Amino acid sequence: MTSAYRHIRMPSKGEKITVRNRKLQVPDEPIVGYVEGDGIGPDITKACLRIWDAAVAKAYGGRRRIHWCETYLGEKAARLYDGNYCPDETLKVLQELVVSIKGPLTTPVGGGFRSLNVALRQDLDLYACVRPVRHYAGVPSPIKRPDKVDVVIFRENTEDVYAGIEYKSGTPENAKVARFLKEEMKARFFDGAGIGIKPISEFGSKRLVRKAIQYAIDNGRESVTLVHKGNIMKFTEGAFRNWGYEVARQEFGGVTITEEQLYGEYRGRQPEGKIVIKDRIADIMFQMMLLRPEEFDVIATPNLNGDYLSDAVAAEVGGVGIAPGANIADFVAVFEATHGTAPKYANQNKVNPGSLLFSGVMMLEYMGWKEAADLITLVYPEVVSDGIVTYDFARQIDGATEVSTSAFADALIERIGGGIDLEAKRKAQHEQLVKERKQREIRRLLQPLEEMVDTGRVPHTVADLMTRALITVRDDDSVEQAMHLMTGNGISSIVVEPDGKGEWGILTRRDIVTRIVRGGRNPAVTRVKDIASRPLVSVPAEMSIREAADKISDSNFSRFTVLQGGQVIGIVTETDIFEAVEKFGWAGEAA
Ligand code: NAP
Repeated sequence: MTSAYRHIRMPSKGEKITVRNRKLQVPDEPIVGYVEGDGIGPDITKACLRIWDAAVAKAYGGRRRIHWCETYLGEKAARLYDGNYCPDETLKVLQELVVSIKGPLTTPVGGGFRSLNVALRQDLDLYACVRPVRHYAGVPSPIKRPDKVDVVIFRENTEDVYAGIEYKSGTPENAKVARFLKEEMKARFFDGAGIGIKPISEFGSKRLVRKAIQYAIDNGRESVTLVHKGNIMKFTEGAFRNWGYEVARQEFGGVTITEEQLYGEYRGRQPEGKIVIKDRIADIMFQMMLLRPEEFDVIATPNLNGDYLSDAVAAEVGGVGIAPGANIADFVAVFEATHGTAPKYANQNKVNPGSLLFSGVMMLEYMGWKEAADLITLVYPEVVSDGIVTYDFARQIDGATEVSTSAFADALIERIGGGIDLEAKRKAQHEQLVKERKQREIRRLLQPLEEMVDTGRVPHTVADLMTRALITVRDDDSVEQAMHLMTGNGISSIVVEPDGKGEWGILTRRDIVTRIVRGGRNPAVTRVKDIASRPLVSVPAEMSIREAADKISDSNFSRFTVLQGGQVIGIVTETDIFEAVEKFGWAGEAA
């Protein structure tokens, strides 16, 4: 293969990874791109390339091999490309090779340079920032049970505050936007305020959540949690949540259930092969990741929440220094160390290669090379537990032996080569996972309401409270039939299908007591239409609990049907609202 590039040399062997039928096609000898990075980048990249190669060689006995293609960004690029930190040919090759990995980069200050990471994200449309966070035995952590943390955070990368729509106080642009907001939109805020705009779209939200759900399916995960601040920012964060549920229902309806269904229809028992879609308000999520981290698995969230959450959760497992990450488009993926260039340690062969190493593990998993990835994740804790660590861990672990970056890599490679019973370790891991899932299930079965509260669930729309299992009768059915259905299903009301005018109706136990029993009528011969109440008042699924409470008080009705996309999807009653407020407290307002 010849190279048409100025400095990039395609390896003479290997084939490019491609995409066919919306699936990655990875040959046995793929060409994978890498950027060495600045500062400590060369030290950690050199070490990691050796470890990844050793794991692949061991896992596949030489049948598979990566052909690395060096590409250039940052200072090394500037030296080669006459001061250009972000050459077009690098972006083109990263796109063409589909999968690549990069070390940290210095962003030149001033001089009108775009941040290199921002340039990469924008030019390759890498809309999902993915951060897996789990604990490795032996790694120092500030919490008691870091082993309970095992989440993968999908953070939206292109919208929200990252859209960068801001107007500085005192500028004519700011004055113009402020005037429009105050005069035309009747918004109220202090004069001279800086103004930022937070766009969150259906397209952007859905493509992120879609990716998170697909990841959960591909990796046998238990749940996807949408983390948002929708109780305050209804049309951005709240909309993210709604669109998330929508994409789950519309595109993954066969393999997902909501948390309401888990507790309602399935009484807390998670059906085999189904992923639970739930949501949490951002502030509660921070608490929950400290108190009950094992309840969370895959997380999908808008940009700013994800920014805070990724670092906070990584810190729980002692891993800001070893936390891996990736920025991913529909298929093109750039895996990266999440720390910076730590210039004071450059070329000292001193720092921890963990962040880049585990980004490479993510990359191998992304390529479907799980055996090689597992080899690294299994030997890593063994080496660290033996006290063989770089300076950063050595200063936190009593009696540890501080080694250089390359010596740490040697220790891992030796362990990889030393024969490890991958199958036995995987089996043990799987058994542990099943055991923990079972324990959570038992808690849900035994104490459903307490579990909902303890795991941070807060209902905030009528859809969260409603009875979903809709039982309906027709106008011409007998009241007796309706009574049997109510008793059989343990419900106090039943929805009556639309009459000739298209009006839905309702029949309640109370209607039956007052109109049949007290009226001395025979339920076997009385038709449902003779005693049902019509018309029925409907509310949209996204109506807040407070709005529903207002409507119930104002309208003299004690129940509403809940509508979504023109369809009745459930019933919500004043009892539901009462019980929710009693159990969960009043969560509809700002804390
Ligand atoms: P930094 O490079 O991450 O370094 C901060 C501190 O974190 C280091 O002094 C060191 O702590 C520790 N650290 C970082 N990497 C480590 C490793 N591999 N092993 C052990 N310890 C490690 O952050 P910064 O100093 O704020 O940023 C420096 C440059 O990096 C800036 O130019 C910034 O723009 C750039 N940056 C790039 C990226 C990226 O490319 N993704 C991300 C962030 C920052 P101790 O001093 O305690 O030993």
